[in-house]
Amino acid sequence: MHGTNALAEADRMMTVCNSCRYCEGLCAVFPAMEKRRIFADGDLDYLANLCHGCGACYYDCQFSPPHEFNVDVPRTFARVRAESYARYAWPGALSSLFARNGRAVSIAAAVSMILFLAGFALFDGRSFLSSHEGAGAFYVLMPHVAMAWLFGAAFVGALAALWVGLAKFWRYTDERSKMPVTAGLLLQAARDAARLRYLDGGGSGCMNEGERPDDRRVLFHHFTFYGFLLCFAATCVATLYHYGLGREAPYAWDSLPVLLGSVGGVGLVFGAGGLLVAKLRRTPELQEQETRSMDLVFVAMLMLTGGSGLTLLVFRATPAMGPLLAIHLGAVLALFVTMPYGKFVHGLFRFAALVRYAGEAATPGEAGSS
Ligand code: SF4
Ligand code: SF4
Repeated sequence: MHGTNALAEADRMMTVCNSCRYCEGLCAVFPAMEKRRIFADGDLDYLANLCHGCGACYYDCQFSPPHEFNVDVPRTFARVRAESYARYAWPGALSSLFARNGRAVSIAAAVSMILFLAGFALFDGRSFLSSHEGAGAFYVLMPHVAMAWLFGAAFVGALAALWVGLAKFWRYTDERSKMPVTAGLLLQAARDAARLRYLDGGGSGCMNEGERPDDRRVLFHHFTFYGFLLCFAATCVATLYHYGLGREAPYAWDSLPVLLGSVGGVGLVFGAGGLLVAKLRRTPELQEQETRSMDLVFVAMLMLTGGSGLTLLVFRATPAMGPLLAIHLGAVLALFVTMPYGKFVHGLFRFAALVRYAGEAATPGEAGSS
């Protein structure tokens, strides 16, 4: 007995695949599947999050629709993945946000931006629509200490929720093996994640629309991921400048925080935009329609965050600075607050699945038998 219909369907599919094994060279999922004869809910959550959704096995499969076996691994695993995000969410009372993710994130973003716009206008209406230059220009609209506390609290809250969710995922998918997490496994998983090793359809590329594989999704994903990391690095360096060197934002065009943030912002907008277009064009059989809005709203939020940051950078010395700063801060705050209850979770769960796979690959025999 399985907890949901999607898990029962994934079990049926893995049982068919385990007899067939035609796809064992495509990705990590099939070798991991072959280490199991029965599929508990935790095993299926692990396999679903190990799947990168490249779509290759759908096109290679002689049992995919319209065959009566109706084997559609990418779509079924997309459903199981989405359910796993909600199952391990913390606090559990907020797990329903995954089911209404598109609406929840849109409302959070709109409310957050409106509150910043209204807050700035009420704090000092004249300054809100005036131009400001020089060190500390942003803090005319919102004191730095208020900004630091608000975003620090949102970030720490999001990290705590993500960490507890990840720990629950690991515990539940680890019931049989009790695998110790070593530095070697973390390193191997980091290498596989950094180059998206299993999004390549076994070497031929990722399927998106039609039957011609390519590397576009890998490329856009890299731009998005590394763009996000550079933006985060820019924020960390700016914090060091502020507290360590006593230098206040905004910083010069050739300063390290601006350079990191500019390159990261361009990467984020380009990568997330490419993923958005790819998602909209993707063959319906490869996507789970019920969770599609969560994917779309996530990349849209990343684009909004990166795009609003770049626009603020360009127009920061004009009277548009106040409204643009409010929109950017509103987008960033909404991103932080909704992070543990949306698609962002996929990165953490997939990394955990890669760690488990690295451990299993190094251990001969059935999973959990040692
Ligand atoms: S997806 Fe199809 S071809 Fe591939 S292993 Fe499963 S049943 Fe076999
Ligand atoms: S990663 Fe690609 S080949 Fe592997 S199970 Fe997922 S969709 Fe199929």
